[in-house]
Amino acid sequence: MAAATRDLAELELPELQAALTPSGIEPYRAKQVFRWIHRRAVLDWTQMTDLAKQHRAALAEAFHISTPGLAARYESSDSTQKFLLRLADGRHIEAVYIPNSPADTFCVSTQVGCAMQCSFCLTAKMGLERNLTAGEIVGQVRLLRSELRLLDRPINIVLMGMGEPLHNYDATVRALRILTCPDGAAISPRRITLSTVGIVPALARLAHEPVMPNLAISLHGTTDEQRTPLVPVNRRYPLAEVLRACRAFPLNRRNRITFEYVLIRDVNDSVADARRLAGLLKGLRAKVNVIPLNAAPGIPHERPSAAQIDRFGKALADCHVTVSIRKSRGRDIRAACGQLLVESGQPSPGQRLASLIDTPAIPETTD
Ligand code: SF4
Repeated sequence: MAAATRDLAELELPELQAALTPSGIEPYRAKQVFRWIHRRAVLDWTQMTDLAKQHRAALAEAFHISTPGLAARYESSDSTQKFLLRLADGRHIEAVYIPNSPADTFCVSTQVGCAMQCSFCLTAKMGLERNLTAGEIVGQVRLLRSELRLLDRPINIVLMGMGEPLHNYDATVRALRILTCPDGAAISPRRITLSTVGIVPALARLAHEPVMPNLAISLHGTTDEQRTPLVPVNRRYPLAEVLRACRAFPLNRRNRITFEYVLIRDVNDSVADARRLAGLLKGLRAKVNVIPLNAAPGIPHERPSAAQIDRFGKALADCHVTVSIRKSRGRDIRAACGQLLVESGQPSPGQRLASLIDTPAIPETTD
């Protein structure tokens, strides 16, 4: 039944208003429907009690509301929770809940798999299976808010799950518009962080979007020679171009760009690397998140020693760079920054989910 009708989960409010008109439903009712779906996470027409019965019947006839299904849920001893979600086509993605970090934060996916081939990332091994739709991106947030009973609480969102958000630009930006719409979940853009490897033309496009999330750049290297093997897209968009795009990116007065740096033993973890990184970021309103790698089978890298992690962080701080070193959370359930590997579309939790790096960079804004 659902497949034959139009999916309302995909629609922005003006589109929803236009979609309802042929059913004889007044456009102002669209706000009520939008609120039920996106603010209250109600997908059952019969529960939309401020709509007349005949309207609910007409809506059920003409539309459906797609949503990811909950395939599995794991809770870490530190309260981090990982949600394995099943999509309509049977594929799986993950979303992670990180409580009190300092706000409640959701890490959500934008693609099934990823095309970027970063050498330290298990998701890369899946390749890109497909883009998520805006409805599937928004659906992760809705499902977590509902499952965790956080519908009335402010949450932060980080687009750091599976996939490269700017490689799925249109759906990602559409999802941002739906999530921030004042008649829906009304999540402040200041609470949303988009993490990217730095797809330069897409960054330039993002700079002109009316809905502007916080920006996090996955840097991971301080020279092209060092970064290209880690983040192969660096061949196409080298460091200098990425940093130029960052310098041109519009920031409001309170904002900084977060630079993520996965710290890998004997690859990018020297004090000289830290100093070079500080030099690259000179003049940028920047913060560095150092993410010590968690070694995993199949990944040709190792985690630096605790002493080396400290040395690296201190060298950055000595260069007057604002730096945080990511603590591990959710490691016992292998929850991580979207570093998900789903094999053959048939997840077997505990065996098939694997993490390499720790919990995502958390936006600073908690307004
Ligand atoms: S680190 Fe991010 S961009 Fe790189 S392959 Fe993994 S999911 Fe894709």
